[in-house]
Order: sequence, then structure tokens, then C-alpha cells
Amino acid sequence: MNAHDPNCLFCKIIAGQIPSKKVYEDQDLFAFHDIHPWAPVHFLLVPKLHIPSMAQLTPEHEHLMGKLMVLAPKLALELGCNPYPEGGFRVVCNTGAEGGQEVHHLHVHVMGGPRPWLRG
Ligand code: 5GP
Ligand code: ZN
Repeated sequence: MNAHDPNCLFCKIIAGQIPSKKVYEDQDLFAFHDIHPWAPVHFLLVPKLHIPSMAQLTPEHEHLMGKLMVLAPKLALELGCNPYPEGGFRVVCNTGAEGGQEVHHLHVHVMGGPRPWLRG
């Protein structure tokens, strides 16, 4: 598994080779709006490291994934999700074909905002 996969859509987005509406970036993580939002707020939060899915996580990723999960609620509020408990958001991490994963670079969907949503 290479840090950057030249054939991976999200690696290309992270590298700026494919445009996206970026919402956050640091040394380890990148976030951008989903191109087909299901909810008023719908962004994808990804590690910059090319990890195909949750199925490839190992203990060495514990810090990275902890950082990702702690960042999700902060970005959700900044992007317009209403505060817990009346508001909130949904975090989804599709994994593998039966998990509904289409892009094989680990990502979490963060969705929120007033209902109804388009899906979900
Ligand atoms: P998955 O089904 O793998 O969990 O979700 C992949 C998500 O990536 C989908 O919600 C889809 O709309 C989004 N997506 C696919 N291609 C692009 C793209 O080129 N740009 C952005 N911003 N999102 C994309
Ligand atoms: Zn990738």
C-alpha cells in the first residue's frame, strides 16, 4: 500500500489534480464537499494516506483515525450542522462492495442539516 495511489480519485483530489470544494486540510487529513450531497451539509473526511478502506486499518492507524473522528464534529458545526442534541449529524463509512463503498480510499461521510434530506 503506497501513501499516494496515482490511480485513486481521492488521492488525486488531495493532490489538487482534480478540483474539489475543500473544507479542511492539515498534515494528515483532508475534507471536501461531496459532489452529490444527500443532505444540506455533506462532506467527506479522509486521511491523506491512501488506505483503501476500514478493512485495512491496523494499530498504527489508531492516532490518525482518532484525529479524524475528533475533527468530524468540529467541521460539522463549522459547515452548518445544528448543535447536538436537536441538530447533530450522521457519520457513515462504507466499506467494501457489500458495505456500499464506491471509492476505495477510506473516507467518512458527514451529513447533517435540517430535514428532509434527499436520502438517508
Ligand atoms: P462511497 O459510496 O464510496 O462511500 O462514496 C463515495 C462518495 O464520493 C459518493 O458520495 C460520491 O458522490 C462522492 N464522489 C465521487 N466522485 C467524486 C468527485 O469527483 N468529487 C467529489 N467531491 N465527490 C465525489
Ligand atoms: Zn487514495
